[in-house]
Amino acid sequence: MNDFREGLLSINLQSIADNYLDLTKRLAAGTRCGAVVKADAYGLGMNQVVPALYRQGCRDFFVATQTEGERLRKELGDSVRIVILTGVRTGAELECVRAGLMPTLFTLEQLRNWVDISVSEGIKAPCALKIDSGMTRLGMSPEEFDLLLRDSQLLRSADIRILLSHLACADEPQHPQNNIQLRSFKAAGERLRALCPEVQLSLANSSGIFLGEEYHFDIARPGSALYGVNPIPGATNPMRSAVALSLPIVQKRFVSREQWVGYGATQQIAAGSWLAVARGGYADGIIRAQGGRGCGWAYGRQLPIIGRISMDSTTFDISALSQEERESLQSIEILNKDLTVDEVAEYAGTIGYEVLTSLGHRYFRRYIKS
Ligand SMILES: *Cc1c(COP(=O)(O)O)cnc(C)c1O
Repeated sequence: MNDFREGLLSINLQSIADNYLDLTKRLAAGTRCGAVVKADAYGLGMNQVVPALYRQGCRDFFVATQTEGERLRKELGDSVRIVILTGVRTGAELECVRAGLMPTLFTLEQLRNWVDISVSEGIKAPCALKIDSGMTRLGMSPEEFDLLLRDSQLLRSADIRILLSHLACADEPQHPQNNIQLRSFKAAGERLRALCPEVQLSLANSSGIFLGEEYHFDIARPGSALYGVNPIPGATNPMRSAVALSLPIVQKRFVSREQWVGYGATQQIAAGSWLAVARGGYADGIIRAQGGRGCGWAYGRQLPIIGRISMDSTTFDISALSQEERESLQSIEILNKDLTVDEVAEYAGTIGYEVLTSLGHRYFRRYIKS
């Protein structure tokens, strides 16, 4: 029990594995399902999440940085493919080659450097290439891609394994940008494959999988849906919730007169109310914008967060509980299967991704295996 004194974050590895399996079943025949485990598996712990996905059959892992890739390589040995989504920094290529990591490259210059350095190591090191199909963030521009297709020597000496691109609006199925990006990516893929038939194509993130089979190509790259974020906002979430977060109560009090609660005296509570102050605040990743809007959960009931969220504590109005419930109440859940990351995100004016990746490090983390 003592381990839980700072709050208990339960992470259900079985739900994550089930979500992986669910997504693989939705893919077109022949499409592989990778897993995006960047940012410490969206805050849930790469060292625990990755083996669970590996046991479920995942062999293609996508990370954001080289450091994450190196950690993962140590954890999993040589049996998996590890792709670094934000590429490799100039000067760090040799370490990347030696760690057997596959960087995503965005420019001709990066591709030439990568080829030169791997040749100097006596190998043809594989890489991924990202093109911009309309999101206008990372990726090779159409003009540069044209130049690449005309550089047959570079194409022969490079070992491009994956051509990828990223969708800007996959979570809005009706958005015209999806089809524009699909057509642009498909055309680019066909042109590259005419010259390098082995290249695999990858476009879909979690939401992209739900746009239909033509978005699936050779490898899908889901992240958030594995961790329970709804890939189809507005519709019923098909994924299983993977996190529960419970905060211990450090004080319960009766308010005899009408009072203002918390910093800034932003919210009033009526005379005769009961409050509970729980351990856990914005320094623990409880997003401060939820103050006065969000809620907690106990005995199957919603308990409003009242006033501003502090650094280390959050105040709840627990007047809705019966006297018996109030007296036995020891903790309040602020994430569970009924109070999902997407709902919390809504209260906080953000997205489930930010709720997950903000989760703090003072909680005791319990991993549930089945
Ligand atoms: C983060 C990321 C993903 C995963 O996206 P989700 O929406 O979490 O499924 C896929 N591809 C790229 C390039 C990414 O950066």
